[in-house]
Amino acid sequence: MEEFDITVIGSGPGGYVAAIRSAQLGYKTALIEKYSTLGGTCTNVGCIPTKALLDTTHHYADALKRFENHGIEFSDLHLNFEQVFKRKADVVTKNTQGLDFLMRKNKIKVFQGTGTFLNNEFVKIINAEQQETFIRSDKFIIATGSKPATIPGVTIDKKRIITSTEALAMQEKPKSIIIIGGGVIGVEMASIFNRIGTKVTILEYADNLIAAMDQELGSTLTKILTKEGVEIKLQQAVYKAENLGDKAKVYFKNKQGAEQELTADYILVAVGRKPYVNSLGLENTNVELNTNGTVKVNDQLQTTASNIFAIGDVIGGAMLAHKAEEEAVFVVERIDGQKPHINYDRIPSVVYTWPEVASVGATEEELKKREIKYNVGKFPFAVNARARAGMETDGFVKVLSDPKYGELLGVHIIGARAADLIAQAVIGLEYEVTAKDMASVCYAHPTYSEVLKEAYTMASGKPSVNI
Ligand code: FAD
Ligand code: NAD
Repeated sequence: MEEFDITVIGSGPGGYVAAIRSAQLGYKTALIEKYSTLGGTCTNVGCIPTKALLDTTHHYADALKRFENHGIEFSDLHLNFEQVFKRKADVVTKNTQGLDFLMRKNKIKVFQGTGTFLNNEFVKIINAEQQETFIRSDKFIIATGSKPATIPGVTIDKKRIITSTEALAMQEKPKSIIIIGGGVIGVEMASIFNRIGTKVTILEYADNLIAAMDQELGSTLTKILTKEGVEIKLQQAVYKAENLGDKAKVYFKNKQGAEQELTADYILVAVGRKPYVNSLGLENTNVELNTNGTVKVNDQLQTTASNIFAIGDVIGGAMLAHKAEEEAVFVVERIDGQKPHINYDRIPSVVYTWPEVASVGATEEELKKREIKYNVGKFPFAVNARARAGMETDGFVKVLSDPKYGELLGVHIIGARAADLIAQAVIGLEYEVTAKDMASVCYAHPTYSEVLKEAYTMASGKPSVNI
């Protein structure tokens, strides 16, 4: 039986990063993955394929609606649906092959199969051919991720009532789709399908899209997506869905209790994700779960079994790939006796609609609730020269800062390239840079980043020279 210093179960962005860091630090490392490819949700059915389809459909929508204004004319534009999904699959394959290479390069022993704890030290692995392998390890890191959740009355049958995973593997363009949930998956999927001409309806329980983010971001996104043709119904509680054979039907009621039903080709359930611990055999270990099903960990990400650690979606918190990656490095370096740190308040959130939405730190709603005083510096993309040149004038940057010391409290962006712009705001918050200092450095002209400079300037109490 093979023995390891550190064994990681699950090869998503939490698991593969933990395995690589472990090997880099000289530990004999194993990685167990039940699927045939490495990379977990993010690489196979999450971050990467959605962004591939978002990019393709963005180009298509630009060609349809915006090229003419740029003076680019052509005839006979059409979408090759098969090629769209083939390219997406190729992008995923390039990434999973890259992970295979990294495992070989770092001499990590990869076991394909489902890992099940027999006790705190031993794991059984059953592969696709039902062959069993047993290993022993000093330490384990559980990184088994999450699966789509659903709501009472809605059974996911993967045929007409589907999740993002099935939506990413469509064989033909649906005529219509109803999305339950206007959170991150809901709005990204709505963008993909709306751009290719599918009739999209979002049913959201809250009074805003992407309701966990600063409210102004969601309300602006609602206007933009509505203008583009997505039907958005807020404050609607879905309570039942039915597969009708060639269509699916959803039942919902608004705040006043008025009942409605809608039919479409597909119903996509995007109401959150739940931690995944099935088949892990945790009952054979000292690992305990919280009441919400997440693996219980302390601030060292150590479970209630002292040699078993857990990271990523399976421990809850922000279910994001970069959060899982940070925890992966953190946990291995802690095991190694180093002193890494993670600042959970400084993890950025990004939504890859167009325009993109990105955020770090406190929202206005949180500051109000906590009765914390703040300055607001808000600047629109519409008066930025680069945005005008690129016809990307939707959106704004909103900087929230401390009125006394100028420290940044939150930065919220909806606008072109927000996903990349947010990185410098994260640095500002992490290192407690003031809005004045953020504004006092030079930003290249013409760039979208100048919108940030203006918002920092205004948050620091100075007027902008551009508005
Ligand atoms: P996962 O990536 O879920 O990986 C867990 C792995 O463990 C899986 O491969 C699973 O097969 C394996 N496993 C489970 N049990 C066992 C077992 N017993 N034995 C062996 N293997 C096992 N996040 C972002 O930050 N940015 C995005 O743009 C983004 N887009 C997303 C889009 C979609 C449609 C979805 C669904 C998610 C998206 N996410 C995004 C979220 C992101 O995918 C997750 O936060 C991330 O994958 C979590 O990583 P993880 O390592 O914790 O788990
Ligand atoms: P979410 O929590 O973002 O959104 C779920 C939405 O469903 C909420 O707005 C909720 O109010 C709504 N809802 C719940 N019950 C409802 C009902 N009965 N009727 C109508 N609406 C209802 O979850 P998600 O969009 O499924 O995403 C899951 C996870 O995946 C998230 O944690 C997210 O972080 C991650 N993810 C991230 C990205 C990204 O980083 N760009 C992209 C996709 C997914």
